[in-house]
Amino acid sequence: MNNKNPIWVVTDIDGTLMDHNYDLSPALETISFLKKKKIPLIPCTSKTAAEVRHLRNQISINDPFIVENGGAIYGDKTNIEEEWKIILGKSFNDLRLKLDVISKDIDYPLTALNDLNHKQIEELTGLKGDSILKAIAREWSVPFLTPPESCVEKINQIAKKYDVNVYQGNRMSHLLGNGSHKGNAVNELKAFLNQPNANVIALGDSPNDIPLLKVADIAVVVPGVSGPNPCFLEGIKKGDYLLAPYPHAEGWASIVNSLIK
Ligand SMILES: [Mg+2]
Repeated sequence: MNNKNPIWVVTDIDGTLMDHNYDLSPALETISFLKKKKIPLIPCTSKTAAEVRHLRNQISINDPFIVENGGAIYGDKTNIEEEWKIILGKSFNDLRLKLDVISKDIDYPLTALNDLNHKQIEELTGLKGDSILKAIAREWSVPFLTPPESCVEKINQIAKKYDVNVYQGNRMSHLLGNGSHKGNAVNELKAFLNQPNANVIALGDSPNDIPLLKVADIAVVVPGVSGPNPCFLEGIKKGDYLLAPYPHAEGWASIVNSLIK
């Protein structure tokens, strides 16, 4: 890292800054420390803007935020209660139609998260009530239930035909416009803020974070309780990624502290 350039901490939220019960309390002290140091903490997540706005209020941060896996970036205008946004992907409605077309092509019914009832979403995500409404306020991506392994390769091939991309997760996958991903969003934000030389410390835990970690100056993998996601094992061995010493928020805080200090 070049010491003269500003530092950005760009972080995934679920599984990285938060554990699977949505707890980030072990990271709160470090978040305050970043604020004191005026180092931006930029969420970069598959969550929606509604979810991230709520989170920003809870932890009192006001830096820009990347939502829906890189589908859009939002931020506040200084001293004005007005939000700006940069749209990088296709709209929800457009993508939702494409999901149906892909279902037909592969002859397997792909189920969008937004088509489940609240009870099913609660069982799947652990979210309740108002949090469910925020999670389904999708504008730039369509999350859907990850289909059986046998369908995955077919979907990826067909997605290309429709100019879309699939980011596969454990239980949930995401359909996005082609070329919109977390790494692209970070580069767009650098250009928008006119900070092309920002030193990016990026943290993630899952395959959808790979594009984010690729554009980082320092790329950190945050493990779960049973270790890092297998997709990172080789990269960790080769030294492409640092591995946080503990799971979730605790590991996040520990490694951010040591990198900043
Ligand atoms: Mg994650």
